[in-house]
Amino acid sequence: MPEKQLATDVLIIGASAAGLMCAIEAGKRKRRVLVLDHANKPGKKILMSGGGRCNFTNYTITAENYISHNPHFCKSALSRFTQWDFIQLVEKYNIPYHEREHGQLFCNESAKDILNILLSECQKYHGSIMLNTAIRNIAKNDDHGFSIQIEHENEITQIQEKMRQREIEIKRLTEEKTAAEHSERGGSHSS
Ligand SMILES: Cc1cc2nc3c(=O)[nH]c(=O)nc-3n(C[C@H](O)[C@H](O)[C@H](O)COP(=O)(O)OP(=O)(O)OC[C@H]3O[C@@H](n4cnc5c(N)ncnc54)[C@H](O)[C@@H]3O)c2cc1C
Repeated sequence: MPEKQLATDVLIIGASAAGLMCAIEAGKRKRRVLVLDHANKPGKKILMSGGGRCNFTNYTITAENYISHNPHFCKSALSRFTQWDFIQLVEKYNIPYHEREHGQLFCNESAKDILNILLSECQKYHGSIMLNTAIRNIAKNDDHGFSIQIEHENEITQIQEKMRQREIEIKRLTEEKTAAEHSERGGSHSS
């Protein structure tokens, strides 16, 4: 089978809640983004969430509500993107919603409204989505990027995902900082 070549800055596998949010945020940072999914439609699980009305966020959210090997990750993530950021997005799209017990927020009409927000934002920031796409192989390149082989409509494509030089440097510094914090804490929990 002939093999096509493609290059992108960010490659995301999974066009659902997590993948589409990543695509939007990377797109805002002017990255070329490609989202791949083997399903025939994006966000299928979003559509069934909250009994079809999606509990898209809660009024009260703290890092303590999350279970994680690294509790600091949730603190950091929640300080940079809060429930109010998502509520603002929902309001920007005029999606009607209501509060249920414990401050849970649900769409009045359909979880499809939430999926449509994510797809619209993804499109706004020029993220591309390829559905019906099988991942055949993933390999890490020496230069910090990934090389991924996909099959879409009986065609094999080799995609190169390359990190920019600045991101390589940020990654290196972050890893060094994490290692230093780990050894300060005594390094008792090896990953
Ligand atoms: C019945 C139900 C109700 C729920 N209700 C709520 C709710 O109201 N509120 C809430 O916050 N959460 C709810 N959840 C949980 C929520 O749906 C998940 O936390 C959320 O969907 C996770 O998003 P995700 O993007 O990480 O994963 P997923 O939604 O599972 O998406 C993963 C994507 O990756 C794709 N994929 C997987 N493997 C491959 C592969 N090898 N190649 C290519 N593509 C691949 C899949 O096709 C899929 O599109 C509910 C879950 C269920 C099952």
